Amino acid sequence: MELFPIFALFFLGLPIGSFLNVVIWRLPREESIAFPPSHCPICGAAIKPYDNIPVLSYIILGGKCRNCKAKISIQYPIVELSTAILFALTWPLTGGHIGWELASALVFTGIGVAVTGIDYHHKIIPDELSIGGLVVGLILAPLSAGAWSGLLWAFVAALGGAVLLFLVRVGGQALFKKEALGFGDVKLIAMIGAFVGWRGVLLTVFLGALFGTIGGVAAMIFSREAREERLIPFGPFLILGGLVALYFGEALIEWYLSVFFV
Ligand SMILES: [Zn+2]
Repeated sequence: MELFPIFALFFLGLPIGSFLNVVIWRLPREESIAFPPSHCPICGAAIKPYDNIPVLSYIILGGKCRNCKAKISIQYPIVELSTAILFALTWPLTGGHIGWELASALVFTGIGVAVTGIDYHHKIIPDELSIGGLVVGLILAPLSAGAWSGLLWAFVAALGGAVLLFLVRVGGQALFKKEALGFGDVKLIAMIGAFVGWRGVLLTVFLGALFGTIGGVAAMIFSREAREERLIPFGPFLILGGLVALYFGEALIEWYLSVFFV
């Protein structure tokens, strides 16, 4: 296996992860992504470039602001490191060559990390990521497929996924007499569909529900907040399902069909 591209993508992922931290903080607060430059959210001090090195600065500063010594959230290095690892994985998982498929996987990963961070904190998924991501996904689909039909199939997958989750949403509301699934998740699955295709989007809904149930039970056990509010964001589980569908979808579907439809 070639190691250089894997390392290169890892080191590309670190600063992208830093940028995604800014997106996660500012997008739901409707602040500009570009201005002002990074500053401590507690004391407002500008963060010097040498204190803004992904992961490393957090360790050197002991997780504290250099100016006011306020605790910096562990989320910052976690997002940076996760993005770097997910970026590194795209190389072997998309077949190990430079092309639109790799670009598409990197874009999907970046959007997925931002959606996960924002939905986790705010229980919302900004349209910039879901609808904006859908548009980018529709543009990348024919390029990755190498044919215009890729656009049609991405559109079918986006619409099919959205219709499916919309029906789940309506059904859930009728059954539980409260909002079981947000409309943000409906828009999110459309975005995911554009990246993973129509078979992938069905698998994503299935895996998202499976991971969400496991995650929901775990949250109920370990978090008092989750027990009381009974509100667990579904977006991160759909993103996780989408990543599994993107990389292992064909293999999983083939395995499933071979076991149950011999
Ligand atoms: Zn500070």
